[in-house]
Amino acid sequence: MTDITALIDWLDRTGDLSDEALKILLTFEDPEAEALLYMRADAKRRACYGDAVYLRGLIEISNYCKNNCYYCGIRAGNSHAQRYRLDRDQILSCCREGYALGYRTFVLQGGEDPYFTDERLTEIISAIHSAYPDCAITLSIGERSRESYQALYDAGARRYLLRHETANAAHYGQLHPAAMSHANRRRCLYDLKEIGYQVGAGIMVGAPYQTLDHIIEDIRFMQDLEPDMIGIGPFIHHHETPFADQPDGDLYLTIRLLAVLRLLFPYVLLPATTALGTIHPQGREMGLKAGANVIMPNLSPADTRRLYELYENKAGIGEAAAQSKAALDRQVAAAGYRTEVAIGNVAPH
Ligand code: SAH
Repeated sequence: MTDITALIDWLDRTGDLSDEALKILLTFEDPEAEALLYMRADAKRRACYGDAVYLRGLIEISNYCKNNCYYCGIRAGNSHAQRYRLDRDQILSCCREGYALGYRTFVLQGGEDPYFTDERLTEIISAIHSAYPDCAITLSIGERSRESYQALYDAGARRYLLRHETANAAHYGQLHPAAMSHANRRRCLYDLKEIGYQVGAGIMVGAPYQTLDHIIEDIRFMQDLEPDMIGIGPFIHHHETPFADQPDGDLYLTIRLLAVLRLLFPYVLLPATTALGTIHPQGREMGLKAGANVIMPNLSPADTRRLYELYENKAGIGEAAAQSKAALDRQVAAAGYRTEVAIGNVAPH
């Protein structure tokens, strides 16, 4: 216990630790020290952000995807997926509903759907931007060219979520077909940063073939990238993928990593993800208490939500946006925090 306490103290005070010490913090078994780690992460988060839990409204714009990531339920190779995409008016009506509920950030997420050309996207982004000038527009639509990222930025997008998935090239190759490359994913993230986007990176905890050493590499990569957001959630299998028989990621390792990330990156935005809420009914609350400070409720139309199936039994598909906003406010308050719709640590756009 005392050794672990010293490591937690050191991490808390200096914001860094050796690889070996980080591995110990991710694996030790000692309930008292574990409680201390979560307490310190929570104190750090309160020192930086108070009790605010930032809400970002998620709009799942398409489940068409040209890629074939081995883990993902909407991969091109899943011929059983029923495909959909939202058109401009449907996306705007999700924003309208979200705005009325108080949301001030919209996250447009989807598969890599060739229908969404720069021309179509810039038109949609400009329309959202002029209808809701006080809102932030976030994109999460995968790998594109630098020119494309620039055009979307010029249209008004200011944030981009693109999990790096793994910082280890060999591991990247075990999760993706040869047509995709670790180098291109990194290129995208650094291009996005250079253009001026606030960037979100991240991984799936317990992704197939992932080792503790990979997680340390992920941490070191993110210390170099300095992302504004880090999205982590447990890997959850999907039966129509090559990883159908792989075990799901571990709840406790995910929570542990959230706490360590809060101490390593005090000011980072750290979502308690839908995947975390899917593997355990209290997963998101546990995440909040261990340092997470963002929730991304689903604003997609009720009938398409179940079709955006990255993994099985996704939480929240049955709720209407309005109903879930009220329930969410209560859940967050019960955990000891307060939902905050303000856009957070960035100027509007
Ligand atoms: N096409 C976009 C959005 C992908 S979906 C992109 O490439 O960024 C967002 C995230 O969901 C992915 O980055 C991945 O980390 C996560 N995800 C995909 N399949 C998953 C699964 N089976 N279990 C848990 N998370 C998954």
